[in-house]
Amino acid sequence: MIDLRSDTVTKPSAEMRAAMASAEVGDDVYGDDPTANSLEERVAALFGFEAALFTPTGSLANQLAIRQLVKPGEELITETFSHIVRAELGAGAAFSGITTRTWEAPLGALKSADPLRIARPDSGPYQVSTTAIAVENTHNFGGGTVQPIDEIKALRAASLKMGLTMHLDGARIWNAHIASGVSFLEYGRHFDTVSVCLSKGLGAPVGSIMLANKARVASARIWRKRYGAGMRQIGMLAAAGHFALDHNIKRLAIDHNHARSLASAVHAVAPRVVDPALVETNIVILDLAGCAISAAEINVELKNAGILASTVGPTILRLVTHLDVSSDEIAKVNSVLPELVERAFKA
Ligand SMILES: *Cc1c(COP(=O)(O)O)cnc(C)c1O
Repeated sequence: MIDLRSDTVTKPSAEMRAAMASAEVGDDVYGDDPTANSLEERVAALFGFEAALFTPTGSLANQLAIRQLVKPGEELITETFSHIVRAELGAGAAFSGITTRTWEAPLGALKSADPLRIARPDSGPYQVSTTAIAVENTHNFGGGTVQPIDEIKALRAASLKMGLTMHLDGARIWNAHIASGVSFLEYGRHFDTVSVCLSKGLGAPVGSIMLANKARVASARIWRKRYGAGMRQIGMLAAAGHFALDHNIKRLAIDHNHARSLASAVHAVAPRVVDPALVETNIVILDLAGCAISAAEINVELKNAGILASTVGPTILRLVTHLDVSSDEIAKVNSVLPELVERAFKA
């Protein structure tokens, strides 16, 4: 099977497993795991932060971060289709008493005017006060959209004046960096807290990192334990993270080329379904609106041909490239998928 459902499906390579097996470990609840400690220090330095915290999931890294910025009864604003509000099962409300309001943006692309239009800091005794803004880069459900650094800068400047803090959901910040050439330090500079995933395109089996100043990370460390995610000999997982950072960032360019190649092949037979110019990273969104066959039905046909994709709503098919999909496999998809799409429109 050629698995394009997500970049989370990657499996650790033999070399990564060897690095995990030989990792130095200790009890991380005591702060004694040297490999976890060095990974936290490494990622903090990479993005220009004082401190970092290893978490088992990106959702937990996001949740630990936003609860440092937003008090119960206060508001976090973010884009309508961002992971924090669409895919974390209401965690901000359930665990931290955080309310959310959203702005909607085509492809999830950040325009600083959008959040600034709805931000309401210091709203007095009748309305909810906004205290933080979350930005997702790249934007997952938006189709791997890279957020323009100029919009991030403009939002940071304006939100600082309003007394608002900013969180970056950087699960795929690696992809944004490869596509834009903007450094990790530059991305980090504009945010109070950041989450990054080691288990998406970077190929580690488990692991995310939350970044903040020392005080916020110390508090998040307590909350991580309270949530039941204080872990013991996690050096084996942290070693996978080190390996991923050493070997799997630069190669993301290959995934991006693969994604553009998929988009171009479909575009050639059905121009309205996808615009290759909008495929900036490793996610391809096919919009099959107006097609006689549903995305789910095309997905079944793909599966019969040995290709796994996912549906996001009745007309949207989503394909994600990653390090376990080779150029030969992309060529195979390109020999099957465009024909299926073409036939579906004729049906
Ligand atoms: C995958 C992802 C996360 C974290 O997901 P987990 O499954 O909890 O690790 C967070 N934000 C975005 C944008 C993601 O794509």
